[in-house]
Amino acid sequence: MISQVSFLNVRFNRLSFEAAVQDLLPRIMGRRISRIYYANAHTMVTAEKCTALTTALNRCDLLLADGSGVLWGSRLLGNPLTYNLNGTDLTPALCKLGASEGLSVYFLGAKPGIAEFAASKLAESYPGLKIAGVQDGYFKDSETDIVLEKIRKARPHLLLVAMGVTRQEIWIDLHANRLPDIACMGVGGLFDFMAEQVPRAPLAVRQCGFEWAWRLLMEPRRLWRRYTIGNLVFCGLILRHVFSEYKMFAARESTIR
Ligand code: UDP
Repeated sequence: MISQVSFLNVRFNRLSFEAAVQDLLPRIMGRRISRIYYANAHTMVTAEKCTALTTALNRCDLLLADGSGVLWGSRLLGNPLTYNLNGTDLTPALCKLGASEGLSVYFLGAKPGIAEFAASKLAESYPGLKIAGVQDGYFKDSETDIVLEKIRKARPHLLLVAMGVTRQEIWIDLHANRLPDIACMGVGGLFDFMAEQVPRAPLAVRQCGFEWAWRLLMEPRRLWRRYTIGNLVFCGLILRHVFSEYKMFAARESTIR
């Protein structure tokens, strides 16, 4: 039984990296799971303003905590999420283990050409891994049915959806039921990292919980708002939650007295 932790009105699953790989692989290969997401501080800030995203997060099959922000915040609110997981580390681990079992993966997302490059790099690293198909993430809404049909025909075990926070979760939430027996996982900028479009933070930086600062340094124009204003808003959400808990506690105390 995977333990659940409620954090800022969203239900997370708490499990270690090893446990996540061990739990996920048989469920993906056995076609027994459909929606898997990761949520970081940026996701939580976005979900606060976007009900469709909160709904998608709360009805997925597995939601994993991504980044030092959510770990820190959940600890402060007294219900720690403990483990920091993300698609950039977990996906290669799943593929490495799944390759010998014939795992097939479909790549959906990123700019034209990037998914192909990422897929070929992964297949090169893990012989046995099957690439079921690739599709960039800039198709029109009117082309969704064609994209879904291509994926259904390819029938991968795992569909990686790398279209960024909000679009990927809502896309999966809307369409997973039209992709029977396929596990859909939202993986953000994974293909860009795999295709070496954006350099990943060195391990030491990641281990210190500062991958966000590295990403900000690498792509300041695109990410400055997310990691400056966004991080402040995230701290505000935590404080608001602490304050409302305190108010509830004080009200309870005064009715007892
Ligand atoms: N992307 C996409 N379709 C879109 C918008 C974005 O495929 O309509 C891709 C984009 O090219 C990039 C990824 O989604 O590869 C988002 O990366 P980011 O690092 O911003 O992910 P996040 O941190 O938001 O999960």
